[in-house]
Amino acid sequence: MKMSEITFGEVEWGSAAVSGGGNRASDFMQLEQGDNKGRVLSNPQQFAVHWVVDETGKKRKVNCATTGCPVCLRGGDTDKPQARWLIKFLSRKDGAVKLLEITSQVVKGVQGLVQDPDWGQITDYDINIKRAAPGAQPLYSVVPSRRVPLTAEEKSALTEFSGRVDVARFITPPTPAVVSEKLGWTVGAGKPKTSAVSSAFETSGAQVAKKAPAVDFDFDS
Ligand SMILES: [Zn+2]
Repeated sequence: MKMSEITFGEVEWGSAAVSGGGNRASDFMQLEQGDNKGRVLSNPQQFAVHWVVDETGKKRKVNCATTGCPVCLRGGDTDKPQARWLIKFLSRKDGAVKLLEITSQVVKGVQGLVQDPDWGQITDYDINIKRAAPGAQPLYSVVPSRRVPLTAEEKSALTEFSGRVDVARFITPPTPAVVSEKLGWTVGAGKPKTSAVSSAFETSGAQVAKKAPAVDFDFDS
């Protein structure tokens, strides 16, 4: 199966989403070393990122602009865009719905459970995303956990979250100018070494973006 065609299965409640409010810092979840238990609540939404070393030698993550992206255009060995996905995840640590960024290892792990007839529909049971020690390969593994129905409170927490947090905001590619600004590059500094390199890398960025599955995050229906 191609990574571009992944669907996990959405949770749908048929209740109206609460509108407005905006996101908070607590809406985001980081995977910790060891166990990360919870429930996948949405299909994965793909986007692309770069890890770039800035002038101070610090590694910084920026979303790929996909078209005319200054990092793609620079075309260095470490400048290739990397695919990432956002999912809505009910964390069992604090019982709250979060936005969780995952890599292809986690996507493949979840997809393996979805395709396993003993498990199937991912929104019906908890999973444990295990993060290994730094440098380990694979870094992540996904195992099924408890099969329990979501409570009414958890369902309304998801409805509230979906109405308040605009997922599209985090996966929509920034403009090339915004990418340059974030990295402290003067606009236009990311000039390609050669036009061949430029077009090759621009294409790779655009292809990652095009792979993003058309997933509807509207939970109203
Ligand atoms: Zn890029």
